[in-house]
Parts: sequence; structure tokens; C-alpha cells
Amino acid sequence: MLIPCPFCGARDVREFSYLGDATVSRPDTRDTDAAARFIDYVYLRDNPAGPHREFWYHGFGCQAWLVVTRDTRTHEIFGAEPASKGSVLS
Ligand SMILES: [Zn+2]
Repeated sequence: MLIPCPFCGARDVREFSYLGDATVSRPDTRDTDAAARFIDYVYLRDNPAGPHREFWYHGFGCQAWLVVTRDTRTHEIFGAEPASKGSVLS
């Protein structure tokens, strides 16, 4: 499987580390229901069949965090982009 790193080009998946779901966002600790939302945020994930946005780290390359859109059924990769500020990584 090749991942199209926006900085390095198409590279073998063995150069990357998978972090997880890029569709979740960290709850605000000031919310009144923050405890319940943190349980969802930390422990509960969907298991989608089809295109899914995921965080990947190019550790054996440019060391950038990426958001990769991958089909979970076929492993086809539709694209990759730098992880932006405001995501779970910032
Ligand atoms: Zn890279």
C-alpha cells in the first residue's frame, strides 16, 4: 500500500504509523456533559465500511502528521493532506 505524502510523494506504508480516527474532536472540558463526552472521545469509535479519514505519521520520512482518506474495505487511498491545527493533534 502506498500513501501519497503531500511532502514526499507516494511512499510505502511501512514508513508510516497509524494513529487513528481523524473524524473525532476533543470535547471542551468546560461543557457540563464533558465527562460523558470524554468517554465517547476516548473509548468509542465507529467501524465504518468504506472511505474513512485517519491520522498517519510519516516517521521514516518527513515526520509530518497527515490525514489520509482510505477505504477500509479495499485499502484504496483517495488522498492525503497535512493534519491541520485545531485537530486532535494540536
Ligand atoms: Zn512525508
